[in-house]
This record gives sequence, structure tokens and C-alpha cells, in this order.
Amino acid sequence: MELIMATNNEHKLREIRQILGSAYEVKGLKDIGCLEDIPETSNTLEGNALQKARYVFEHYHMGCFADDTGLEVEALDGAPGIFTARFGAMNGYGDSHDSDANIACLLAQLKDAPNRHARFRTVIALIREERDPETGETKPVEHLFEGIVEGEILTERRGIDGFGYDPIFAPDETGLSFAEMGPEEKNRISHRGRATQKLVAFLTSD
Ligand code: IMP
Repeated sequence: MELIMATNNEHKLREIRQILGSAYEVKGLKDIGCLEDIPETSNTLEGNALQKARYVFEHYHMGCFADDTGLEVEALDGAPGIFTARFGAMNGYGDSHDSDANIACLLAQLKDAPNRHARFRTVIALIREERDPETGETKPVEHLFEGIVEGEILTERRGIDGFGYDPIFAPDETGLSFAEMGPEEKNRISHRGRATQKLVAFLTSD
């Protein structure tokens, strides 16, 4: 089955292909010739995921899914949330999407705060044509899938794998940081892994 994922992030495409396996061919935006910067202007993860999936569906007329992820830190009242990718840049630490800057910023904001509880939350929006069993007509239908992993923000970086905040996020299940785990172990418990497992269960229950 062919699926379009509304992203150009090679890490995400690789992770999602690993989770979905060979039964699915996941194409990224470049693969369908979409070079535009898709707007993400919502103030929720759900809104941003839907906005990206709707954009591809409306412009390319293909079934598509899009994800949006936020890191929600308890001691920071749920920040950075929708600003997770730009957290460092918004606070004077380097450029947007610069992982080292984001990590430096978060460690500086938390300092030695005793409450280091945080969670990653991913929302996946899927839009595809579905046939109405009563009328027999097809129409676009939207579905949302959520994945959450609870954990702690470490006081210093650990591990070299992964991307983003992986070296300073340790899920409660393992005691290891995401950057100390292999991709399979991370995918099994991660926010995106869990949201993707729900997406796959939905797609394979058709
Ligand atoms: P996005 O919505 O998936 O682009 O995620 C927003 C930001 O969250 C990214 O730029 C990363 O900094 C961070 N992020 C998302 N997923 C992960 C992950 O699995 N590990 C570490 N950081 C992540």
C-alpha cells in the first residue's frame, strides 16, 4: 500500500518505514514533487497535523498522513509544546531546528529543577477517500491518532543515536536516554512509534 507522509525529514521517514515494514511504501514530500513550505500555523499539535495533511490532500489529491510532535515539560507548564522545534531560537540559542541549541536552552531553563518530568506527544492526522457504506459515495475522511511517552529530562546529554532532544530524554520504561537506544527499541515505546502503531492498526483493520 502506498502512503504519503507530509514530511521531508529523513529521520522520520526512516523511523516510520521501519515501523510499517514492507507491506507499505511510504513516500515523502520530495518523492511526490512537493517542494513547498507547508504552513503550520495552528496553536495545537492536532491542528498542525491536520493542516499539513489537508494541504497535501487538497493540492496533490492523494491520501496522506502528517504528524506533529511536542515535548511537554511539567516544570515549564507544558512548554515548549508546539514550539519544540524552535525552542532554542525563540530564546536566543541558535537557529530554528538546531538540536544542540534546543537542548542547551531546555537545560538552561530547567537548571537544577527537581521536577524533571516531561512527555513527548505525537498526533498523526490521516486523510483519505472513504466509501460511505450507506450511499456508496466516496468522500474525504479525517482520522487522528495520538501517541505519548512519559519520561524525565536528564541533567546532561547521554548517548549519540537519534535526533532532536533524544540525548536528554529518558522514557520511564527503560532508564536509558532515547539516544542510548537502538532504533527498534525506541520505535517500540516512543510517542511517534505509539501513534504510528495506532495508525497501522487502523489501516490494517480495513
Ligand atoms: P516534529 O513536529 O515532529 O517536527 O517535532 C518537533 C520537534 O520535536 C523536532 O524538531 C524535534 O526537536 C523534537 N522531536 C520530535 N520527535 C522527537 C524524537 O523522537 N526525539 C527527540 N526529539 C524529537
